[in-house]
Amino acid sequence: MPRKRRYRFVGWQAPSRPKRHPHVQQLRKKKMTVLCILGSIAMVFFLFGFLGGRISGVRVAKQYLAQLDETKIALQQTEDALLEAQSVPEEVPVMREEIVYPWNLMLINAQHPLQDGYVVPEQTILASGHSIDERAYPALQDMMDGARAAGLEPLICSSFRTEEKQQELFEAKVQYYMDQGQDRAQAEESATYWVQRPGTSEHQMALAVDIVDSSYQLLDEAQEQTPVQIWLMEHCAEYGFILRYPTDKSDITGVGYEPWHYRYVGVEAAQEIMGQGICLEEYLYPDQYE
Ligand SMILES: [Zn+2]
Repeated sequence: MPRKRRYRFVGWQAPSRPKRHPHVQQLRKKKMTVLCILGSIAMVFFLFGFLGGRISGVRVAKQYLAQLDETKIALQQTEDALLEAQSVPEEVPVMREEIVYPWNLMLINAQHPLQDGYVVPEQTILASGHSIDERAYPALQDMMDGARAAGLEPLICSSFRTEEKQQELFEAKVQYYMDQGQDRAQAEESATYWVQRPGTSEHQMALAVDIVDSSYQLLDEAQEQTPVQIWLMEHCAEYGFILRYPTDKSDITGVGYEPWHYRYVGVEAAQEIMGQGICLEEYLYPDQYE
């Protein structure tokens, strides 16, 4: 009979760990220490990296915001410039405030034609048949008498002209230049230097006279050398007249030298104009011709 095996319950015990060798334990401790140190170093690096990243990130963000601001400012400036450009018309005609001068200082030239409805003033007809504004007549008579008293023989060769007469003279001059080969536009341009277009001549105002020396009646530059012109240029202002188109003022008056054309402006203005060697345009609009 087989022997019954009897089992005795002895309980369970966890198997005790085999004890490690002390050397192994030391190695493990060292390993742990090294790992801790490495971990700490890694943590430090991580923190630096994180903070550095944050700092550089802030910097990038700040730069980005600054660029945004600059872009915004630039856009605003562009918008302002566009608005400004839109609000200003391309060319604003600057209208000068016209000064109303008394009759004796009325300016007539290519830029200041006679106004529509201009009324020809009352005139005094001279013995020669010429005429002048009755208000300027006494001064003209005195000047002629003064020249004669100086032993000279002044001769009035032109005075008041109607619009039609001025047109006739202008057309004759235009034809003269066309005969020389210029086309109509060129000829008108050339003629304007010597004969004013109708509506822009002082002769239509009855305030201008052309005076020559009886001994030399040609209307050319040599006229200035005649005794009558020498005397008139020296004394005309005393009577309220000016040499209207001096040789050195052609660029302002737009008219060639006419050492025979005298214009009445009154004694005060005449003495200032002749005394300073300026022309009527400069006297009336000094700020334009500084
Ligand atoms: Zn004249």
